[in-house]
Amino acid sequence: MIDKARLGLPEFARGSVWLVGAGPGDPGLLSALALCALEEADSIVFDALVDARILALARPGAFLDYAGKRGGRPSANQPDISARLVSLAREGRRVLRLKGGDPCVFGRGGEEALALAAAGVPFRIVPGITAGIGGLSYAGIPLTHRDTNSAVTFLSGHNSSGEVPDRLDWQAIARGAPVLVLYMALKHLERIAARLIAGGRSPQEPAAIVSKATTPQQRVVVSTLGELGRVAAGIDPPAVTVIGEVVRFRAALDWLTAPAGTPP
Ligand code: SAH
Repeated sequence: MIDKARLGLPEFARGSVWLVGAGPGDPGLLSALALCALEEADSIVFDALVDARILALARPGAFLDYAGKRGGRPSANQPDISARLVSLAREGRRVLRLKGGDPCVFGRGGEEALALAAAGVPFRIVPGITAGIGGLSYAGIPLTHRDTNSAVTFLSGHNSSGEVPDRLDWQAIARGAPVLVLYMALKHLERIAARLIAGGRSPQEPAAIVSKATTPQQRVVVSTLGELGRVAAGIDPPAVTVIGEVVRFRAALDWLTAPAGTPP
């Protein structure tokens, strides 16, 4: 139990919705606010990417409502989910909308918040650790390093219809930042890599795919931009891909599977 008063944490009021990021998987990465929300919520509307160990922290008796993909069928549509949040709140419940990573990083948190605001339902946004940051740290890859990059680009590898987002200016992305972090890109890595190489990135540039980051099934594959499409075939989602010189630091910084001080 968290001592909310001591930490000065806000009350989870009946009739309100908290949009909470659950982080990439490891329950140790939950925020104090996320833990409180799990302990207090009456209804929890959660996505497929929320780790089972985190849902197990829900208050006994809380109503768990799954809003993700089921057996290959498309996810519950967004207006339905937003309407559900509004009606649960209007019934006077404390509603926890729990999303993997951060709710506002490729997570439609903004859309749901807009619907709540339009309906006059009070809400709070609780950030979570996004997979493209936490997942890299668990792979021993620093997102920035003074020797390699002072900018990062986060991008989604597919658009709302599941295709490579063609409206993106791939030439500009290729030139824009030394480190690129791709979400939802596993299926399209070959085509994305080709566009980045056409935009001037070297096929020899280091790249890594981090699958199931921060969970006991985490797997990291280090490769090069030119080889990404080929190595992606054997990797399970969800996965983030990082392209850039920072990947080289993993050789020295893989604290999770090769901690410093252990013999090689
Ligand atoms: N809101 C989430 C992102 C949702 S989009 C966040 O902030 O992390 C879904 C994508 O997130 C996946 O396709 C994958 O690219 C990434 N992702 C989410 N959880 C992950 C995990 N545990 N390991 C690796 N990638 C993950």
